Amino acid sequence: MTVRPQDTPGAPMSLRPRLLGGAPAAPPSVDPGVAEFRPETHSLPGFFIWTLGCQMNQSDSEEMAGQLLAAGCLRSPSLEAADLVVINTCAVREHAEAKVIGRQGLLTALKRARPGMRVVLTGCGVRESERDGLARRFPAVDMFLRPDEEPELALRLGLVSAQAPIGLQTVSTAATTVVSGRPVSAADRLAASRSTALAEDRVARSSTLSAWLPIVYGCDKTCTYCIVPFSRGPERSRPFDDIVAEARSIAEAGFVELTLLGQNVNSYGHDLPAEERFAHIETERSAGRRLDLQSRPDLAELLCVIDGIRGADGGPAISRLRFITSHPWDLSDRLIDAMASCESVAEHLHLPIQSGDDAMLQRMGRQYTLAHYKLRLARIREAVPGIAVSTDVIVGFCGETEAEFQATLAALEEIRFDTVFAAAYSPRPGTPALRLADDVPPAVKRRRLNELLARQHTIGLERNREWLGRDVEVLVERITPQRQVAVVSIAPDDADTAAEPGLDYAGVGVPDLAGTAGEGSVALAGRTRHNKLVHLAGDPELIGRAVIVHIDYAGPFALRGRVVATPIGPSPGVATTVVE
Ligand code: SF4
Repeated sequence: MTVRPQDTPGAPMSLRPRLLGGAPAAPPSVDPGVAEFRPETHSLPGFFIWTLGCQMNQSDSEEMAGQLLAAGCLRSPSLEAADLVVINTCAVREHAEAKVIGRQGLLTALKRARPGMRVVLTGCGVRESERDGLARRFPAVDMFLRPDEEPELALRLGLVSAQAPIGLQTVSTAATTVVSGRPVSAADRLAASRSTALAEDRVARSSTLSAWLPIVYGCDKTCTYCIVPFSRGPERSRPFDDIVAEARSIAEAGFVELTLLGQNVNSYGHDLPAEERFAHIETERSAGRRLDLQSRPDLAELLCVIDGIRGADGGPAISRLRFITSHPWDLSDRLIDAMASCESVAEHLHLPIQSGDDAMLQRMGRQYTLAHYKLRLARIREAVPGIAVSTDVIVGFCGETEAEFQATLAALEEIRFDTVFAAAYSPRPGTPALRLADDVPPAVKRRRLNELLARQHTIGLERNREWLGRDVEVLVERITPQRQVAVVSIAPDDADTAAEPGLDYAGVGVPDLAGTAGEGSVALAGRTRHNKLVHLAGDPELIGRAVIVHIDYAGPFALRGRVVATPIGPSPGVATTVVE
C-alpha cells in the first residue's frame, strides 16, 4: 500500500476527521449500550465503488462494499457525491486503464472542492513491481491496494471501530510471492478472509437473482500478452467444503443463478492436497503443463455436489449453475460428463480461443493447438447437444501475418461461435510479450478487428436465427431503457466498444416493446440458459422470475419474443428450503 505524506507518519490513512466536507451519511441505529464507544457516525464516509473488468472484480467489489457497510459507511449514489471513491481496476487491456487515467482530472477537481474526499485504487492495475510509478500515473489516488490487500480496505482507512465484526478488526491478507523474478500479489489468505466475511455476513451481493462465487484466485498459465499472473499471482483454490457451504447458503437465500468464478475456473483444485474422499478422481490434463491431479477435487466434482443441493420439490435448489472462465488445458472428460449429467448446469460455455493459427497460439504462450481446441469442443457439443459457446479473440498480436489472421477467420467460420469478444492487441507493462515487437500497425489492427466483427456478425445472426419460433425459458433480469434502433456500425476509432454485445442490431427497426404486452407493460431483458440475451415486454414484477418466451425475432447479439407462460419456479430472494 502507498500512503500519501499528508497523513500522520505510520498511522493508517484515517479518513475520519476530514470527511465533514462530504454530505454526512445517515447514521445507522446504534445499540444504546455501546453508543459512547462508537465513532462519530456523521464522519463515516459515503462510498462509491467503480468496478471495471471481469466478474472476479465484481465479486471483489461486493466484498469491499460489505466491509465498508459493516464499518457503518453508507453507499453514495454516484462517484461525484462520494467522500470515498474506490476504483477496482482492470489491466487486461490498455483501454481499461486509460478510462481510469482519464478520470484523474475530475477526481482531482472533486478533491479540491472537498478536501476530505479520498480515492483508493485497487484491482489488477495495482502491481507490486510497478508500485513506485503508480502515484505518477494516478495523481488523484491516495491509496493503492493490490488484490490480496483489498480485504484490509476498511481497516487501512481507519474506519473499523471496536464495534465492527471481529474479522474486520483482525483481517490480514497481504501476501506476495515471486513470478518470473518479480514480486507479485499472492492470494494465499483470500480464501480464509472470504469465509470470515461470509460468516460475518459481509459480502454485499449486487443482485438478489444471481450470485458470484469465487472458487480459485490467480492464474498459473503462461499467456505472453497477459498481465493477470503478475497482478493476481499463482492459482490458489478455496477449500472444497467452504465452496459447497457458500453454495448452500446462496441456495437457501433464494438465488436462482450461481456463477463459479476463476481466471481459470476449470483449473480448480490442482493445488489442493489429495484426499481419500476424492480417490475416485482420476483425471489428467490434455494440454499445457502436466500436473498430478489424482485424488484432488476438481470443478466436475463441485458441479455435481452443488447440483445435488436440492429444494423441497426435489429439483436443484439453484436452477442455473454457471462457471467462467475456462481454459482448454483443463477441459477434462470428467468436466464434460458433469456438464452433460448435471441438471442445473446451464448449456453455455465460455472458452477463449484467442487465435486460429498454431504458430500464433505458440507466440501467445497458449500451449494448445487449434486441433486440440476443436477436438475438445467437438466432445462437448456431442455431450451437450445445442450448447452455446462464446470465446475471446485477440487480433494484431506481435508478428501476426495476414495468413495467420485469415486462419483465425477460417476457424470462426468452421467453429461458428455464438458470441465472440474480440479486441486488438495492446502491449501490457511487465508481460513476456514485451520482448516481441508490437509490429502490426494500428490501422491494420483496426481493419482486422472490423473484418472479424463483421464476419462474426453474420455467424451470430445465423446462430440466433436457429431460435426463431422456439419457446425458451428466460430469467428476467432488468428493465431495458427506451431502445434506440441501433445499427452496430463498426467504429474504426474505438475497437473495444465495437465488440460489446448486447447492442441489438436491427437494421429493420426494432419497435420499443414498452406497452406491447398490455397496459403498464415495459421493455424487459433477460437471459436463456444458453446465455442468450432476450428482449421482451411485460410487467416489471417479472424481474427475477423465469418465464417462457416465444422467440419471434433474432439479431446477431440478441433475440426478442413474447411471454407465453407466466412465471415458473420460486421468486428470487425468497428463502428456499434446502433438503439434505
Ligand atoms: S489464462 Fe492466460 S489470458 Fe487467462 S488470465 Fe491466465 S494468463 Fe491471462
